[in-house]
Amino acid sequence: MAPNFNKLRREVSRLHRAIDARMMMIPKVCQRGCSVCCHQHIRIPGQEELVIEEFVLNEMSADTKSHVAANLEAWFDYFESNTPDGTIIDESTLQAFERQQAEDRFPCPFLVDGICSIYPTRPTVCRVHIEQGTSAHCESDPQKITEPCSERLDVLRSRNSEGWMVHL
Ligand code: SF4
Repeated sequence: MAPNFNKLRREVSRLHRAIDARMMMIPKVCQRGCSVCCHQHIRIPGQEELVIEEFVLNEMSADTKSHVAANLEAWFDYFESNTPDGTIIDESTLQAFERQQAEDRFPCPFLVDGICSIYPTRPTVCRVHIEQGTSAHCESDPQKITEPCSERLDVLRSRNSEGWMVHL
């Protein structure tokens, strides 16, 4: 494994630990086993993508890998059917696709039997996506557009200023 990758993995792990510690302090109604928020599009920065790829290749069981592969195939079919010419043209096209996926509640390809198959390396956006007051509108607003958690946005903003391309 390349030394640069080891450094990147350490940095991503450090970032995730710091985010988890901060998010632990925020009261939330989210519960273990709930995957409502996993039915929408997520944007993963390149650094985290590499770490996830390594996890899938080296840590994931063959059975789970085949589930994820099937999910990915379904996801790409969905993507091609819900974007102009099967591609993303610009930010507004991407946002339209994200709204559509949230509305259709199409699942993230890493969701297997209602559980995140890459949980130890799940991206920052998943670590900070919480619900504070009530879970009543989780299904109708998985993107949490109407009531974004301000602390969550602070975490993302602070990371962005350090050069991490994290989006909601
Ligand atoms: S990466 Fe995991 S936590 Fe994030 S949306 Fe996908 S299944 Fe859910």
